[in-house]
Amino acid sequence: MFRLDNRVAVITGAASGIGAATAQLFAEMGADLVLGTHSADDHDIESVRASIVRLGRRVTVVDVDVRKEEDVNRLVDAAADEYGRIDVVIANAAIARRKESSILSDIEWNDTLDVNLAGVWRTFRAAIPLMREAGYGRLLATASTAGAFEAWQEHAHYSAAKAGITGLVRSLAAELGPDGITVNAIAPGIIETPQTLDAVNSLGAEGVGETGRTQPIRRVGVPLDIAKGFLFLGSEDTSFITGQTMIIDGGRMLVRG
Ligand code: NAD
Repeated sequence: MFRLDNRVAVITGAASGIGAATAQLFAEMGADLVLGTHSADDHDIESVRASIVRLGRRVTVVDVDVRKEEDVNRLVDAAADEYGRIDVVIANAAIARRKESSILSDIEWNDTLDVNLAGVWRTFRAAIPLMREAGYGRLLATASTAGAFEAWQEHAHYSAAKAGITGLVRSLAAELGPDGITVNAIAPGIIETPQTLDAVNSLGAEGVGETGRTQPIRRVGVPLDIAKGFLFLGSEDTSFITGQTMIIDGGRMLVRG
């Protein structure tokens, strides 16, 4: 159960954090990977690529800005051209920018929504025709407890985008279910990654450490915790789960508020 032998997965934001851990776990479970990296960010996609090659799986890396339709289409076309199939898409790329709402500009709002919500949609949209043709697919996105289930002050744009993902997966799940495609999201709590360790825009190392000491599961989340959720939802075995946003947060939501 939960193997991905000879499946092909496309992952955005794959050079770091949750995306990188998911790529590695998927390779361990038998998948070939098409990875989106964003070269404007300072991440090491080469170490991710090398670890997948060491596992004996095939990997293709594409430089992608999910704000650009042509980039996203190139990513998906690479999977179609080189592997002839796309079984799983993980639309995972996102940005978090702290900004008090009264001075949050249209440009900042639009940019975050463009990456965090429209970017998910663009990535899904590009893969739908091939999945439909195959009569099989797993469309997955990284939402967040922030926005989808709780507040995150000074992150109205991020929260709106992440809440939007929950609506997107519900609607697409209903639309694409007859084609054999399931559509789900994961809402991570606090996971130690470059996003959360950024003390300006997120919790920083101290805040992350505090979460680890206080939430019911007495440790902070690691990217592999989320990768395992994607493996579950991305496998053939979960064909009856669709339209859901699954919280993976070490029980943090249970004790907030
Ligand atoms: P991260 O910053 O390491 O990963 C985000 C990735 O998105 C990076 O690799 C970055 O290069 C990429 N990216 C940013 N802008 C892009 C663009 N325009 N086009 C393509 N790629 C772009 O942090 P992470 O925590 O691993 O984030 C992964 C996902 O998890 C994000 O959607 C994030 O919002 C979500 N998330 C994280 C947490 C957490 O606690 N870390 C909690 C909830 C949700």
